[in-house]
Amino acid sequence: MRGYLCVFWIVLSFNFPAVAFNSLVHEQIIKSVFQYLNTRKKVSPTTSKWLELGNYQNLHTQNQIERILIRSIIDVDYQPDLWMSAWYRSPFAGGQVKYLGMLTSLYHFLNVTKPGIFWDYDGYAYRHTDGTGNDAYLGMAGMKIRGDLSFPLGGRVYDDAHRRGLTYLGAYRHGFKGSEQDWQQLFFEGAAAQAVLPPSYVLGQMAYDAFLASKRAVKNKLEEWDSSLPVADGYIFLKKVKHHYWRQEIMGLPLALDSLGVTLHLLQDLAMPHHAQGLAGYCHPELEEIVDELVCNSEKIPDLSQYETGYFDVLSTSACQNLYEPELVDSIARSSTLVDMQNKLNIRDVFIDIAKRSAEWQFGKLDKKTMATRLPDGTVISGDNCDILRHKIVFDQAKFHYNMAVAYSLFVLEKAAQEWENLNLKK
Ligand SMILES: [Zn+2]
Repeated sequence: MRGYLCVFWIVLSFNFPAVAFNSLVHEQIIKSVFQYLNTRKKVSPTTSKWLELGNYQNLHTQNQIERILIRSIIDVDYQPDLWMSAWYRSPFAGGQVKYLGMLTSLYHFLNVTKPGIFWDYDGYAYRHTDGTGNDAYLGMAGMKIRGDLSFPLGGRVYDDAHRRGLTYLGAYRHGFKGSEQDWQQLFFEGAAAQAVLPPSYVLGQMAYDAFLASKRAVKNKLEEWDSSLPVADGYIFLKKVKHHYWRQEIMGLPLALDSLGVTLHLLQDLAMPHHAQGLAGYCHPELEEIVDELVCNSEKIPDLSQYETGYFDVLSTSACQNLYEPELVDSIARSSTLVDMQNKLNIRDVFIDIAKRSAEWQFGKLDKKTMATRLPDGTVISGDNCDILRHKIVFDQAKFHYNMAVAYSLFVLEKAAQEWENLNLKK
């Protein structure tokens, strides 16, 4: 009987995937970036040249660079790059309760609240959480990370069909301070509860380097393909979810503009305070849903299923710019931390910088039952459940984080364009 109960507990609690900002919000952040570039700012000569090149085919009254970035930023959450196994189903790369989420999003964390064990700062690790809510998942008995299947952890590519057209970035090992044996133990032998995943700046830097190394496209190109994502669907059985992908190249611009999208996705995720604190629980999905509602100024969570299938029309949600505030973007852009950043774009430092600002908004429990959030100004709101986040002061704070994601994305986009052009002039 005990075993039975255990199975049901596990099945019902497969509420995972923390995807940070949901696809809808990532999309809106880039739309805000382009609105800003088109309407507000004295754009640098490089950026304005890029914008011109991206305007070659005004199919959607939208810049082609914007379309490529929206697509590549959203697809980062639909890569089956992290595999796990449990005694009752194996292997799987994601889960579905209402919407699909891939375990890959566990690479989208940078815990700046404590020094790292294996990197300067570590990524997501069960051992750094309190093991409740969404964070309980990795702690379940028999749960293992399958490094042998996860390409970024050095394993073989389990299903490479989905990778057609995408750039291989290699293993996420930059800056790893442990030994070969530690790596083996973390991802190939130990329980998932013992694993410490790489911080998101590792992947952010690798994607950025792939972007920088890419040549200038000599023609316009579009490729499309379908792939199926292997997920646990809330029951014992595994199922495959179809996802449609495409990637595009623009004549005169870097071939790997989509790799820059990967970096921007990870950067934007760090504007979500949980991602900067290594927490998947503590009202994390609830906050993401509130942000979904806020960007669209809607009473209920907008339908996200179009992102799951990969057939989304970039115009369908264009009205969701409710959190965008250009004056706030300006003031964040003028803040000393961004102004102080070196001329050469150091992805790691930019990531740590936004994560530290983001982590000033904290989440936790006052006691076993009481959820609490502490805003950067010291205000504490607590209560029985995540409805504590439905508070005007929280909405304002969420707005700040949204515009911080816009400001940092703008900063990286403009610097990246400059750096790539400088490199390509020298060649
Ligand atoms: Zn993400």
